[in-house]
Amino acid sequence: MAKQQMLRFVKVGKEMPEKRPPNLRSEDFNEIYAEYAEEKAADQAGRCSQCGVPYCQSHCPLHNNIPDWLMMTATGRLEEAYELSQATNTFPEICGRICPQDRLCEGNCVIEQAGHGTVTIGSVEKYITDTAWEKGWVKPIAPASERGESVAVIGAGPGGLAAADMLRRAGIQVTVYDRYDRAGGLMTYGIPGFKLEKPVVMRRIEQLEQGGVEFVLNCTVGEDITFDAIRGKHDAVLIATGVYKSRDLTAPNANAAGVVKALDFLTASNRKSFGDDVPEFDNGDLDARGKRVVVIGGGDTAMDCVRTAVRQGATSVRCLYRRDRENMPGSRRETQNAEEEGVEFVWLSAPSGFVTDDAGNLSGVRVQKMRLGQPDATGRRAPEVIEGADYTEESDLAIMALGFEPEDLPSLWGVPELTVTRWGTIKAKFNTHETDLPGVWAVGDIVRGASLVVWAIRDGREAAESILSYLSAPARVAAE
Ligand SMILES: Cc1cc2nc3c(=O)[nH]c(=O)nc-3n(C[C@H](O)[C@H](O)[C@H](O)COP(=O)(O)OP(=O)(O)OC[C@H]3O[C@@H](n4cnc5c(N)ncnc54)[C@H](O)[C@@H]3O)c2cc1C
Ligand code: SF4
Repeated sequence: MAKQQMLRFVKVGKEMPEKRPPNLRSEDFNEIYAEYAEEKAADQAGRCSQCGVPYCQSHCPLHNNIPDWLMMTATGRLEEAYELSQATNTFPEICGRICPQDRLCEGNCVIEQAGHGTVTIGSVEKYITDTAWEKGWVKPIAPASERGESVAVIGAGPGGLAAADMLRRAGIQVTVYDRYDRAGGLMTYGIPGFKLEKPVVMRRIEQLEQGGVEFVLNCTVGEDITFDAIRGKHDAVLIATGVYKSRDLTAPNANAAGVVKALDFLTASNRKSFGDDVPEFDNGDLDARGKRVVVIGGGDTAMDCVRTAVRQGATSVRCLYRRDRENMPGSRRETQNAEEEGVEFVWLSAPSGFVTDDAGNLSGVRVQKMRLGQPDATGRRAPEVIEGADYTEESDLAIMALGFEPEDLPSLWGVPELTVTRWGTIKAKFNTHETDLPGVWAVGDIVRGASLVVWAIRDGREAAESILSYLSAPARVAAE
């Protein structure tokens, strides 16, 4: 019976939920895709061919049981679909919205490979859990019994929160420390609302709070409290602090007024969406309104900056990238969305400096034209400068989106024994995520370097399991 409702990819074409027209969506920070209607979600889920070896699942960092929850959606068993989906993923509705599915599950779907257009896995995943919230199927965290051990989580991003959720469900006392005034990490202050509306993140934080997770916000570890003090107070510590040091450009006038960092720009914009007072936005420094904006970089952060600048009312938005469209690291889907919204991409172009007016304010970006040469050590074709082709791109606001590096935690926290790699990321064991410090684990971007929400969730869940084994080890229990 169920089979008849599946394998319908030949009869039913791929259909994403309706996308708001560019002129309307550019006016606000709301998400751009509507929700599927029930029938449409079932139809789209029914396109799945129920592969014996599902490549979608093997390419999902969480190994989500995608074919089974698609089948349940197609056959109207939505509550079971939700149960199955949340069994492997702490935040399925968030992954459904912001995972780069074109590089993960959907990019590897056999229907896509066969030229029929992928099963719209992400949109169905979002539909299932949004419906679960609406219908009250998402239950508060209620541990079967309380345990005495306590765990500190430093960093309230997806890695830290995924671990906090699992540990609390097991009855552990969990305290999450974060330097910001709201939890969520980059899901709250980095990723813009048009990709991930903030109430979607906030209701998850409330769920954790209601389930007994304690949040200590506005608390920078290393400044407001020492790392050693945290270690002394808790039985185990998980570091999930992400990567926040912006890669800078060494070029003439790189510190001019009007040259800003991507994360400062995006954080200010997200704070305004919460209704906060943001002096650097209100005085115009981080507001693109009425400005000719140039964003430098070709990754997802750059895509978020250009689309934010459009929504703030920039007069023009250009994105400079030193390679071409085919070699851009950012998601194709986001690049297309940006182009629809009026962003102009200037390929094979790299900044060589900034031009200022008499008052020292930015008036333009000096641009070097590039060509792609031979592949470098990574296999990518290296950009080379075309001599004599420089020009000035007029601009009042240049946003630097060149990537992020880890902060030097061993120095900042006064723990030289915390081993880091040559890239400055924390060294942690594959699978268990234990660091070289006994009783200390580390997950997410601070271990991987700038990565994805879904990988942080996976790390956090695996580390929680490892911490639970450590806390329950017979030798440790006997010693107490
Ligand atoms: C602009 C932007 C857009 C992105 N878009 C996407 C996307 O569409 N899809 C996707 O999958 N990924 C995206 N990412 C990547 C994704 O957000 C990260 O990979 C993910 O958030 C990493 O999770 P994390 O838990 O390791 O760290 P984070 O989310 O960075 O959270 C770390 C937390 O630690 C806190 N912290 C740091 N230092 C301290 C300290 N000393 N004391 C106390 N607290 C501290 C921070 O305040 C923060 O809240 C994007 C990233 C950026 C920057
Ligand atoms: S690869 Fe595509 S068709 Fe196969 S199980 Fe996954 S979603 Fe279904």
